Amino acid sequence: MLAKPKKVSKTALKAKADKLASQYYRAQTPYCEMAGLDEHQCAGVLNWAHIIGRANLRLRYEPYNHLILCAGEHLFFTHHPLDWIRALEKHYPERLRLAEQHRHEIVKCDYQAYIGRFTALPESQD
Ligand SMILES: [Zn+2]
Repeated sequence: MLAKPKKVSKTALKAKADKLASQYYRAQTPYCEMAGLDEHQCAGVLNWAHIIGRANLRLRYEPYNHLILCAGEHLFFTHHPLDWIRALEKHYPERLRLAEQHRHEIVKCDYQAYIGRFTALPESQD
């Protein structure tokens, strides 16, 4: 008799989906999306930076709910949420509008489906 497959925890699936999503979106947008738009100098590696934080599972993996930012600007905006909202209003109003519009929707997060989606390379998605 075959052994039962070991159940992978939701936490492990979430961590895997996050890692893949971060790689996927950084490959798709290999530059800081605030570069040249504000007074900051870009610094550090690229980060997957959320408009509304990852705790919101409806928006966690949505393409409109993030920017790719250098680590320096990600850190600055993490500590300056008002500047973050103002920068989004000025430079990325559509993403902010969509994130705001969908933020209260309740969903069951299918991490396995996201893992499948983000395992494909962005270049092969067209
Ligand atoms: Zn930057």
